[in-house]
Amino acid sequence: MTHILSSERHSSGLAEVAEVLLPGEDGYAESATALFADGTPDLVVRPRDAAGVAAALRHASDAGLAVTVRSGGHSMAGLSTNTHGMVIDTRRINGVRLLDAASGRVRVGAGATWGAVAAKLSRHGLALTSGDTNQVGVGGLALGGGIGWMVRRYGLVIDSLAAVQMVTVDGRMIGADAAEHADLFWALRGGGGNFGVAVGFDFIAQPITSVRFGTIGYRADDLPGLIAGWRDLVRASDEKLTTTLNLMPAMPGRPEGVTLTCCFAGTDDAEAERALRPFRELAPVVSDDIRLMPYVDVFEDVSPLPPGLRMAVRNTFFSTLDAARVTAVNDLFTGGGAAISLRGLGGAAARVGRDATAFAHRDAEVMVAAAFPVPEDAPPGRLDQALRRWSRVAILGSGAYVGFLGSAEPADVAAAYPADTYRRLADVKRRYDPDNILRRTHNVLPGRP
Ligand SMILES: Cc1cc2nc3c(=O)[nH]c(=O)nc-3n(C[C@H](O)[C@H](O)[C@H](O)COP(=O)(O)OP(=O)(O)OC[C@H]3O[C@@H](n4cnc5c(N)ncnc54)[C@H](O)[C@@H]3O)c2cc1C
Repeated sequence: MTHILSSERHSSGLAEVAEVLLPGEDGYAESATALFADGTPDLVVRPRDAAGVAAALRHASDAGLAVTVRSGGHSMAGLSTNTHGMVIDTRRINGVRLLDAASGRVRVGAGATWGAVAAKLSRHGLALTSGDTNQVGVGGLALGGGIGWMVRRYGLVIDSLAAVQMVTVDGRMIGADAAEHADLFWALRGGGGNFGVAVGFDFIAQPITSVRFGTIGYRADDLPGLIAGWRDLVRASDEKLTTTLNLMPAMPGRPEGVTLTCCFAGTDDAEAERALRPFRELAPVVSDDIRLMPYVDVFEDVSPLPPGLRMAVRNTFFSTLDAARVTAVNDLFTGGGAAISLRGLGGAAARVGRDATAFAHRDAEVMVAAAFPVPEDAPPGRLDQALRRWSRVAILGSGAYVGFLGSAEPADVAAAYPADTYRRLADVKRRYDPDNILRRTHNVLPGRP
């Protein structure tokens, strides 16, 4: 197969519009492997623009190669690469351009990373609420929804999205926004990489340069009380403040810990102090490093997984974090092993209509995510055991965020969306990718006409 592709890459014209890499060539491994997956594709293509993407899709169709589209390579379900197919690595399409200073409209290449976007926007005094990690890609995160450190102030990243430039599976370059391809624009805001290869996103960025950011460490003598107290504070808190409660199990060299990461996106010192004070009084505080910092410094580098371990990640949404749900989260944590985060939502994210975007979990006050470390050589029963423990939390939740969904099982993908949202996504899928060429993703199956 490699030999055939080697001669074809010139005759097909693909090499004129994209870098084409075969197994063993320089740069191949960088695109073939990812944080949660090691792949062995027959071909890696790194297009420079939409024409390169269209040529790659054409070549994959002619050669009968399955396609994976990757941007930052951080899919928790290992969907960044494949075996014996083609990986279209969009990371060369990574420009960040200010289109209109007055409105803050910026055009971002799908292959940029969020750390690079924050750094480039900061030169214009602008910022986007996106994710929390430098290396995570614009493409995967934006198509899933994007829950960032200013989610309560500005909503999800898709709530700042004005238009998407996309190459369809049959090689057409189209633009989707509220007026043009409006059905597709709806689907691209939460429906993942099912509908085409995104090459660019127009966002409306906000005039934010600095935030008060940091982590409060608590002594958790009464964990259920602390979780319930945090919930009450989030309900009443200033929308400029976004918080995530982290329940971290003991790890080698680190004791168990309960921390609250806080981001206050506002300029008034007194207002920030007022918003943060009740969280500082929630439980005995053992550490507190919240300080004013450039927004760009909020982003962290990804930590590689410890060797020999993989992480099974699941999440769900709670419309109310009531007593039964507090107990379920507490039981999961005290049962050991799981790292749990509770992201406080509401605010601007909740003011967008449930049907306005394919991300429909607008009434949720909390997203709960759990990461279970599983040794790579563990028997399958070990993962099942972790998932059984998770199911006692999941049963109390509704749907899931595909960004933090470490499974691509069709039933799990369908359950991530409300049934009517999934049906609408399946209908858009049928119109833009009826043959399900883009199935190496959290796959929405094409609906029946
Ligand atoms: C360390 C870490 C931190 C994270 N933090 C956050 C966070 O703060 N907030 C949040 O919301 N999420 C977060 N996530 C989840 C993140 O949104 C998803 O993992 C997302 O899929 C990563 O995007 P990517 O481009 O890096 O991944 P990739 O693996 O490159 O892409 C994932 C999938 O997206 C699709 N895709 C990617 N690019 C394109 C494209 N150009 N066109 C069409 N389809 C495409 C493909 O189906 C691909 O399989 C985090 C993940 C990790 C691992």
